[in-house]
Amino acid sequence: MESLVSLESVRVHFAVRKMLFRTNTVAAVEDVSLAIKPGETLALVGESGSGKTTLGRAVLRLLPVTGGRVVFDGHDITHSPESRLKWFRRRAQAVFQDPYSSIDPFMSVYQVLEEPMVIHGVDDRRERIESALRDVRLTPPEEYAPKYPHMLSGGQRQRVGIARALMLRPQFIVADEPVSMIDASSRAEILFLLRDLQEQYGMAFLYVTHDIATVRYFSHRLAVMYLGVVVELGTPAAVIDRPLHPYTQALIAAVPAPDPANRLREREVVPGEPPSPANAPSGCRFHPRCPHAMPGLCDAVVPPLMEEEEGHSVACHLYTPQGRSWTGPKGAQHMPAPERGG
Ligand code: SF4
Repeated sequence: MESLVSLESVRVHFAVRKMLFRTNTVAAVEDVSLAIKPGETLALVGESGSGKTTLGRAVLRLLPVTGGRVVFDGHDITHSPESRLKWFRRRAQAVFQDPYSSIDPFMSVYQVLEEPMVIHGVDDRRERIESALRDVRLTPPEEYAPKYPHMLSGGQRQRVGIARALMLRPQFIVADEPVSMIDASSRAEILFLLRDLQEQYGMAFLYVTHDIATVRYFSHRLAVMYLGVVVELGTPAAVIDRPLHPYTQALIAAVPAPDPANRLREREVVPGEPPSPANAPSGCRFHPRCPHAMPGLCDAVVPPLMEEEEGHSVACHLYTPQGRSWTGPKGAQHMPAPERGG
């Protein structure tokens, strides 16, 4: 099946002023290639600073893309001027992390939902608003439409945010940490709601999250990001149950364990904070924290994202020909390759 969204070697760099006349370049996203099919959910997972939110905004053209291409439904939109993006804005929507700040407190629910239809000249507004409120389970619609945001709970506000994203019947939605700022009791409900809506309308999602534990409930594939690069890609069953990259293993080990028999819990969580993208290390960006780093290789050569098993790719020298034949500098020690499987 043809991809709906294709990212080809996408880079997003920012210039940051260092001293009065000097600037530094921060490579927030570096050489990311991903594709999302119609009706598919791809999860982007990583710690803060991994570049996942930046990538999600770049895909929506809310941030400029420094290099590479963003292709939507066969059209290269990488550098299209805003005046020519109206068709794209109608087809690609966003659900933001913070339902408190993403909705205008002075607008009623009806006005919030009507606004995108006014901008895009849609006529059957009342019917669509009623239908969207039913879709997000804010019923009866006539009770919720006149309410203002302060009259709603966090979960209800996020449902309004989701309804607003649905108003133009988009083909693609970027959901950026959609449950991280709402009550724990509402999180699963919102994720199941998004999944149900996807089954009903068939739109594709880019689901941005720091919480790998939620990915199993709402994604067909996941990409793990570390300091701006994708380090592992595959289905949740492959990546969560058989993580290959040492960073993915550390992320999974950090999830509170409901099952004490899970052997991953016995592995040591990788210590330390990720460095700033402004000081990204050379070679593999994870090498300063990696217990398996091979000196002279991992700190010098960027590992490519390679398919290690069908539909499961990893960017790590433990799986490259160079890494497999690495003998290292004289006297150098490194830990053996991590075990496969959970
Ligand atoms: Fe990176 Fe090397 Fe560790 Fe793989 S083994 S994650 S390439 S430092």
